Amino acid sequence: MSNVSTTTGVKSGMYAVDAAQVPDSPSWVIDMAALEANLQTLANVQERAGCKILIALKGFATWSTFPLVRRYLSGATASAPHEAKLAHEKLGGEVHAYAPAYSDSDIEELLPICDHLVFNSLNQWQRFRPRIEAHNAANPQRRISCGLRINPEHREVAVALYDPCAPGSRLGVTREALKPELLEGLEGLHFHTLCELDSDALERTLKVVEDKFGEFLPKMKWLNFGGGHHITRPGYDVDRLVRLVRGVRERYKVDVYLEPGEAVAIRTGVLVATVLDIVDNGGPIAILDTSATAHMPDVLEMPYRPEVVGAGQPGEKAYDYRLGGLTCLAGDMIGAYSFDQPLAIGQRIVLLDMSHYTMVKTSNFNGVRLPSIVLRHQAGNYELVKKFGYESYKDRLS
Ligand SMILES: *Cc1c(COP(=O)(O)O)cnc(C)c1O
Repeated sequence: MSNVSTTTGVKSGMYAVDAAQVPDSPSWVIDMAALEANLQTLANVQERAGCKILIALKGFATWSTFPLVRRYLSGATASAPHEAKLAHEKLGGEVHAYAPAYSDSDIEELLPICDHLVFNSLNQWQRFRPRIEAHNAANPQRRISCGLRINPEHREVAVALYDPCAPGSRLGVTREALKPELLEGLEGLHFHTLCELDSDALERTLKVVEDKFGEFLPKMKWLNFGGGHHITRPGYDVDRLVRLVRGVRERYKVDVYLEPGEAVAIRTGVLVATVLDIVDNGGPIAILDTSATAHMPDVLEMPYRPEVVGAGQPGEKAYDYRLGGLTCLAGDMIGAYSFDQPLAIGQRIVLLDMSHYTMVKTSNFNGVRLPSIVLRHQAGNYELVKKFGYESYKDRLS
């Protein structure tokens, strides 16, 4: 989720964005040619490996690009009913869902639109199994194939915030916690151990998955390798990925799914902002019409320093500035940079690699419903004044 991949990135179309021509500021600008190039790389993997690739909407859900995405990928994976609905309505293809836990109403919303449902625990599977089996009996044309997320407890990710296999993780069932008799009725297994990694990390993961869970694989119809595959990054070893997928398909006679988010959208978009003022406190600070906390929360969460077109590290070029946001949060700072020329009020600034994870966090990360707003009146009664539905999620992107 760090967008630092730009530092190693090949110059792609997004570097060519002419900020002066962008019709509004601040704006996200998605470079459709760069997006299509990523999609072509992914489609090539699908074809060579004989697997299906789904876009993970939590990383990129800009649905006005979905007609293009659909030309190349097999469907989407969703982490909440809103994302699943968006996939069903705007993308088409297969709709898969996985969430750390589903509520009864989540399941009711997902049943009519999902192809695969992945459970995070055997407890959730036991709880919803009768409901799903009743649905499948009544809708033989729209059967849902259910799977279980396993936790191979194999660590590849350095940052614990992004490591699903960190000790004490709530994501997936460990081999120790897995009760084989409760797997009955499940048709697939799902694992997710990677974040921004190459196929050597997948190879090590697969070895552990096969060692620990290999006895269950021949009974499965599919295996989902999750996300975190940085397939479109220059230098990614695609040949090894293809070899690994083909090997698993042949050994266990299963369908294989990959569900990258980042790989769909890395190096495809920028955020164009404008310098509103320049103040000084221990050095010049340019205040932009954007905000780390409101528009790029991952800058503060990760934290990371986005690349800026034409800017270097502080001290590298003649004029140093810190770039700050327009909220009143004291820590709403984007980072320290240097430029060849002094910045001017009204000048536009282009922040790189802003499509994946940044736009979705500005709206509703994972498509999770925002909390409703309730007033408790003096008389003691509660009034629900706002419930945020699917439309409000959808309307925050386009
Ligand atoms: C986050 C996530 C993905 C996508 O991960 P990327 O790192 O964006 O490729 C896929 N599947 C699941 C279950 C996830 O949580």
